[in-house]
Amino acid sequence: MSKLAETSITNLKGIGEETANSLYAMGIQSVEDLLMHFPYRYEDYRLRDISEVKHDEKITVEGKVHGEPSLMYYGKKKSRLTFRLFVGRFLVKAICFNRPFYKNKLAINDTVTVTGKWDQHRQTITVLEIHFGPFTKEKEVEPVYSVKGNITVKQMRKFIGNALKVYGNELESSLPSSLLSKYKLPSKSDSIQALHNPVNQEVLKHARRYFVYEEFLLFQLKIQALRKYKREHSKGIIHNFTEKALLDFIATLPFPLTGAQQRVLKEILGDLSTPFRMNRLLQGDVGSGKTVVAAICLYASCLSGYQGALMVPTEILAEQHAQSLTSLFANTPLTIELLTSSVKGKRRRELLERLGKGEIDILVGTHALIQEEVDFSRLGLVITDEQHRFGVEQRRVLREKGESPDVLFMTATPIPRTLAITAFGEMDVSVIDEMPAGRKVIETYWAKHQMIDRVLAFVEKELQKGRQAYVICPLIEESEKLDVQNAIDVHDMLTHYYDGNWNIGLMHGRLNSDEKEKVMQKFSENHVQVLVSTTVVEVGVNVPNATMMVIYDAERFGLSQLHQLRGRVGRGSEQSYCILLADPKSEVGKERMKIMTETNDGFVLSEKDLELRGPGDFFGRKQSGVPEFKVADMVHDYRALEVARQDAYEMLHSSDFWEEDQYQGLRNVIEESGVLDGDKLD
Ligand code: ADP
Ligand code: MG
Repeated sequence: MSKLAETSITNLKGIGEETANSLYAMGIQSVEDLLMHFPYRYEDYRLRDISEVKHDEKITVEGKVHGEPSLMYYGKKKSRLTFRLFVGRFLVKAICFNRPFYKNKLAINDTVTVTGKWDQHRQTITVLEIHFGPFTKEKEVEPVYSVKGNITVKQMRKFIGNALKVYGNELESSLPSSLLSKYKLPSKSDSIQALHNPVNQEVLKHARRYFVYEEFLLFQLKIQALRKYKREHSKGIIHNFTEKALLDFIATLPFPLTGAQQRVLKEILGDLSTPFRMNRLLQGDVGSGKTVVAAICLYASCLSGYQGALMVPTEILAEQHAQSLTSLFANTPLTIELLTSSVKGKRRRELLERLGKGEIDILVGTHALIQEEVDFSRLGLVITDEQHRFGVEQRRVLREKGESPDVLFMTATPIPRTLAITAFGEMDVSVIDEMPAGRKVIETYWAKHQMIDRVLAFVEKELQKGRQAYVICPLIEESEKLDVQNAIDVHDMLTHYYDGNWNIGLMHGRLNSDEKEKVMQKFSENHVQVLVSTTVVEVGVNVPNATMMVIYDAERFGLSQLHQLRGRVGRGSEQSYCILLADPKSEVGKERMKIMTETNDGFVLSEKDLELRGPGDFFGRKQSGVPEFKVADMVHDYRALEVARQDAYEMLHSSDFWEEDQYQGLRNVIEESGVLDGDKLD
């Protein structure tokens, strides 16, 4: 630990017991904590051109007083001072409340500087601060800190100012000077000075650069060291299979593998045959063909004498996967079984018994797979589909079902590169970035709700061609009950609208699994032409004859979710369509609809989603492996993240890093984080 981390804030002038307690409550104990309490924003006093300022933004302008100010009293002690200013070529109005005494200080043609809120429609500034004279450059920007209790921002500025004066030069940087000069970064103490008291934007920018890089590098070093350590110390299974047997199997598939499928297979099969335990994430957009990749890997595991498990989040999906695996493996001796919570009683007991005896090669199921009573005889490979839907804990339990099986996580939610290398830094990542040939791009349209008649007529045209449609119902946050009611309403409406010409099915989370299966069965056999559903059909479902996807209230869904839903169509050879019914009120909402109509690329959408929603929201609450950075921003600083990742990789794999003095600081960080302790192995 560095010296400043051990120096209590009570050593600073002006911090007595009471103040210290308030600071403790904010997690600030040491001088280092205080110095690292960075402003969350800056008051920006830079002069700006009025034509560039948006409505309601705060601005500072310098102008010349034009005409006589007018003062008006109203109510008790309330007043309103109005004057006009020439700001460059603009004449604007300034309004100043309850400060009547300013009137005498404003003479015609005087130069004044005012800061306030800009009303673009009225060309008016509501004055917050006024300086009687020209703009002075010293306080271009001022730090604003988060504070708690009875501490004010002003006090916080003072405390930090004091700390900087006394201790500012003693901050130890963990970065060697060779790195600072390589990236032309300022020193840590200069950077910290500048973050708290930036002279101007340029200096602030470079100070940020220092911390962004340092934060990313330390983070990357830690997770990569952890990954390296885990890899080198994990005792995994060596899968022994012959390539020939696999190739023979691949030759029986109804299609050739895409280049991307072949590449990821090579990566995964490579892991399977090493003694390291695989811990790999397989990303591939909806429809990119992950299932067949999973099947080949499971086959490899079975060929090596092990059992495989495939865990999926919903029963519908489990059933579909069990079916597709059964047909893929039809010409092999493999035994595939399905285990969900609806498998009960005697059937369940028998199934578990056969599993324990090793008579089942591949078990497909929901989280029923991770119940205690489920015992494999020699589990070699665990695959989870739609992995972001499972909690960390569930995945751990499944992994512990075997000795130390290889693990593959699959996801169709394309994770932006930035998140993939932070949240999943401790995993290896394979990406299927190519669609099977001949796929048609789904045409996506955005329609207002009032156009529903035209939309339904369009749907009917498709139905007349023999196609099928999904209609996804409005989503009401946090209330499954209301979602269900909505689905029922829409179902009634459509039944009425299509007046018995078509069969309308209904699917929602309140149906039991038998009922769900029946509905799905009818839809996939085209006994039902229109399936009204809540978002339960979101993942995985595959009905190639469905070419229409209508989504109500599309503005309520995130981009990734819309993309998932859209991915239910476009699975066959016919042209498919997606219609987003939405009346978004916000600009962001409109932006989202527009992007959906413009791209089919899940990765582009995920990057956009991340940008619009921020990393915290991206995974929802379940998975919050997303680290928090003080200064760095994963979205906007992604280039720095890439650089830091590469640097961390090279360092960890060079002997210099482990030997030379200049890297001592960085080595300490790795050591102190405990990633090299055995107990981090799970
Ligand atoms: P996802 O990645 O969304 O799970 P699937 O595995 O369900 O995608 O595959 C979608 C469809 O594409 C399936 O019908 C599958 O049979 C088909 N498919 C997979 N790989 C190929 C390929 N290489 N060529 C043609 N079709 C393929
Ligand atoms: Mg899938």
